[in-house]
Amino acid sequence: MTLLFIILIEIFFVSLNIGYLSSLSKVEVKSTLKENVFIISNLIKEYKKDDYQQIFKGSDIRFNIINLNGDVVYDSTRFNKESLLENHGSREEVQVAIDNGQGFFIRKSTISKKTTAYYAVKRINKEGENVVIRVSKNYSPVITIIRIILLVEILFFTFLNISIHFFYKNFLKRDLYKKIEVIENFLKEKESGSALSFEKDPWILSFWRIVQKWQRKNLENIEKLNRDKRTLNQIIESIDSSLLLFDENLKLIIKNSKLSYLFEIDKDNYLELIKDIEIIELLKKILKNKKSFKTELYLSRVKRYFYICIKYLEEDKRYLLSIKDITQTKGVLEVQKTFISNVSHELKTPLTNIKGYVIALEDAPEPLKSQFIKTIKNNIDKLENIIIDFLNITKIEKSNIIKIEKVSVERLKAELAILLNERIKTSGAKITYNINLLDKNGNIKIDLEKVLTILKNLVENAIIYKGDKIPEIEISIIETRSKYKIGVKDNGLGMALEELNKIFERFYRVDKARTSNRAGTGLGLAIVKELIEKCGGQIDVLSKEGKGTIFIFTILK
Ligand code: ADP
Repeated sequence: MTLLFIILIEIFFVSLNIGYLSSLSKVEVKSTLKENVFIISNLIKEYKKDDYQQIFKGSDIRFNIINLNGDVVYDSTRFNKESLLENHGSREEVQVAIDNGQGFFIRKSTISKKTTAYYAVKRINKEGENVVIRVSKNYSPVITIIRIILLVEILFFTFLNISIHFFYKNFLKRDLYKKIEVIENFLKEKESGSALSFEKDPWILSFWRIVQKWQRKNLENIEKLNRDKRTLNQIIESIDSSLLLFDENLKLIIKNSKLSYLFEIDKDNYLELIKDIEIIELLKKILKNKKSFKTELYLSRVKRYFYICIKYLEEDKRYLLSIKDITQTKGVLEVQKTFISNVSHELKTPLTNIKGYVIALEDAPEPLKSQFIKTIKNNIDKLENIIIDFLNITKIEKSNIIKIEKVSVERLKAELAILLNERIKTSGAKITYNINLLDKNGNIKIDLEKVLTILKNLVENAIIYKGDKIPEIEISIIETRSKYKIGVKDNGLGMALEELNKIFERFYRVDKARTSNRAGTGLGLAIVKELIEKCGGQIDVLSKEGKGTIFIFTILK
């Protein structure tokens, strides 16, 4: 840019210079020709045409005299051959001289073909005629000189420009390298913590200030980015679904730690990362048609239901995969459905019975009436039991409150005895205890109400399903460092092995039990299991048909 500017100035200078030179030479030649005209005009006043040749013979002045018709009456180089010359009336300088008294032109001569300067003036000769004196001078040498000067100037400036260009290029390069070296050394000094010497190169101080400002801004941005990243990670982690972000080739960019059992560790290619072909197929689908979609999926490998959402983020050309385990929600819905249908079913049977017997009662013969009333009463008992159990289980499900208190085993025994008093009396059941506690004072730390409900249900069952024996029940309480292990053993009917994993389901009743215990609801063990799990424990059962059953459960301290 600078160089272009310099070249423009140079062109301007050269053209100014050459213009000035050519106008100077024009003035110069004009004044020479004027001088000649002055001599000639004086002579033609004094002498006749025939004497001109004599006077100008030795002179190098070239001139001719032209009458106002344009005919050449005298020519210093072609004396006496003037009649051969063509009419000069059309020559510019002659025309202008005739019209205005004088004319000056530089042009190519029509005769010699050389660039010539012409000066013509109108004068009166000795004979009193108006004539035009036209003097001329070869102008070619002047033009040649001007051209040479122009060439020299162009060469000079071209050379000058090239020199400036190379000098500056190298100089600036060297200077730049030097500056970079200084910056390098300076940064090294800064890194090593040695003292900074700004006074050497004051410009470096301003450079360092810029670097510092820039660095500060960068650090602030990095800090902000880190903060945002942390927040984003926390948000991703707090979501209860598994979230995975893939690039356009389905290479993993980021993922939270949820549902880790669906993924291989340390893999980022989706084919290696995802364990289940069903999810891989879904990803392949979106890779092909780039359309977001949601679907429910059952994974047979893990036996669970998932809600899968795959989004194509068009702007970034990325894929967002979210997987939510919906097994529980699905299960809860399923359980609720069967629970309602079971409750309705269980309520329907005693109600139908009651309705039937009430109708029959009206026309029944007297001796059967009391039997019918007894049946109605039994069915009402059953209805009541179902409703109480139903309310209990709903209450337990809703409440997460655990009231751990320190109670003596004796108190537990006594309260249980009160609750079972009637059943024990009617059945003649014998209850023994086997207590093994770490606490020397015989205290245990339990949620008394819950443990009492559990034991009451288990002992009641032990009495109900006694078969034809007198029930012998042993309750054992063993304390370990973290929990209590409690067992309820009976000598009753016992159960077949295939029944054991079903008896804790709601409304499940072993077939035989339906006849032996008409008031049973099939909710008792479901309540027991629920309560034990609320107390952080679990229940197991061992049983043998005809021999008896033992329920063992744990309760966290
Ligand atoms: P319900 O007693 O109302 O039928 P439960 O949930 O308490 O319901 O018990 C489910 C089933 O388990 C009972 O129908 C019964 O057949 C069986 N069962 C429970 N406890 C015992 C036991 N101690 N001995 C034998 N069978 C039992």
